[in-house]
Amino acid sequence: MRCGLSSQPCTGPVVDADPFAMGQRRLRQFVAYGNKTYALRRLLQSLTDGRSDDATIPTFHVAAATFFCGLLRVRSFNALEPKLKERAFINLVGPEAELDSLGSVDTISRVLPQIAVEQARDVTVGILAKAERNKVFREGWHGALRYVALDGWEPISSFSPKRHCEHCLVRHVKVKQPDGSVKLVEQYYHRYVVAMIIDERLDLVVGIEPLLPADLRSDGATDSHEGELTAAKRLLRRVKETFGWIDVVVADGLYPNGPFLSLVQDLRMGAVIIARKNTDEPLKEALRIWGTQPAHEVVLDTEAGERIELWDCPDLETLDTYKGPIRVVRARVTKLDDPKATPHTWCVVVIGKATKLSLRQILAVARARWHIENTAFNQWTQCWKFTHVFTHNAQAIQVLYWLFIAAFNLLTLFLYRQLRSYGRDRGKDVTRTISRLIDEMLDDLARLTASPWHPG
Ligand SMILES: [Zn+2]
Repeated sequence: MRCGLSSQPCTGPVVDADPFAMGQRRLRQFVAYGNKTYALRRLLQSLTDGRSDDATIPTFHVAAATFFCGLLRVRSFNALEPKLKERAFINLVGPEAELDSLGSVDTISRVLPQIAVEQARDVTVGILAKAERNKVFREGWHGALRYVALDGWEPISSFSPKRHCEHCLVRHVKVKQPDGSVKLVEQYYHRYVVAMIIDERLDLVVGIEPLLPADLRSDGATDSHEGELTAAKRLLRRVKETFGWIDVVVADGLYPNGPFLSLVQDLRMGAVIIARKNTDEPLKEALRIWGTQPAHEVVLDTEAGERIELWDCPDLETLDTYKGPIRVVRARVTKLDDPKATPHTWCVVVIGKATKLSLRQILAVARARWHIENTAFNQWTQCWKFTHVFTHNAQAIQVLYWLFIAAFNLLTLFLYRQLRSYGRDRGKDVTRTISRLIDEMLDDLARLTASPWHPG
């Protein structure tokens, strides 16, 4: 044989083309990575439900089938039904080779509500705890800190009274009728607060918490549905309790109020929070102090094509409901290629360990809050099937979301930790990169003649 451009016979060792590099064994590679690095199989096997131990379809099969349903973007349980009897999908969930079927989606729908939400959450907790032990988060991001963004998310809504459950929130919305009149109609919906670690590339979900309807609230305020802040506080406590190494919470204009900042302080965290209302403290006082002062720092970021003016106001104590110094920062960003366009202004409230950041770092972190909408919500809606109503039982929805989130997180870790050059090879469009990766996994699924849980 000959190699390269040389006309001489090749005398070096003969090396097989790397099938992983070719993307031909992508699903097998993903399962092997998940199992070897994060004990995926053991984590999914730890789930239990209320059925007897001799149930024909073990809980593990239900959990694994749901996990792969999320990962491979199967669009509905109807679409999953025939796969449960396909040899390749049985092999994927396996590894029991003698199995003829993984049951039916009716079984999955019946079992999911019997799995405790905490157990489903523990799959993701297990993956992220291992990632932390593997030093994935050790270096942190700006200022060597670890950040978590919080935001509200509403994946499910329906006007059909037949498709609602006791955990649905209800609101009245104006709906235009065929005769042109407008009628107030009841709409049923589920809303959550999501917590996601944000970083330069590695965005991973660490929590999801439902907003409770009035009659299920435990805080005595049973005259209205919970607001986003109430659920977010519950979520942040749990996130910090589980992932003690997270340093700073990043959130939007709903959050810079005394009670929320006090919770952040109690949890010994920092916060970088967007402030939108010029009339609300502490931004009101910062604006008064800045008056017509010129910017304290001006940065020309030619790479981003921006001119950034920054104002700083440390140590404000104008909130009655928060005891501690607050730093307020304002940034005015002008596009260098369009200096006549209206500049974008950001005002940010900063407390705790985040106050050590530079003005530019604070702006970068505040802007990175968009990761939770771009990386999670947009992708979950456009590419994943999070907004499809697979089941309408509040507990089953949460169990299913936690299994989908485990798939989302593991895919993110796989992409950025295992296939480090993959993003560069596929360009910078992350959504397209991931879609291509899933296509390669589906191609590999079609070729799956044995269980991938035992490599070789
Ligand atoms: Zn519901």
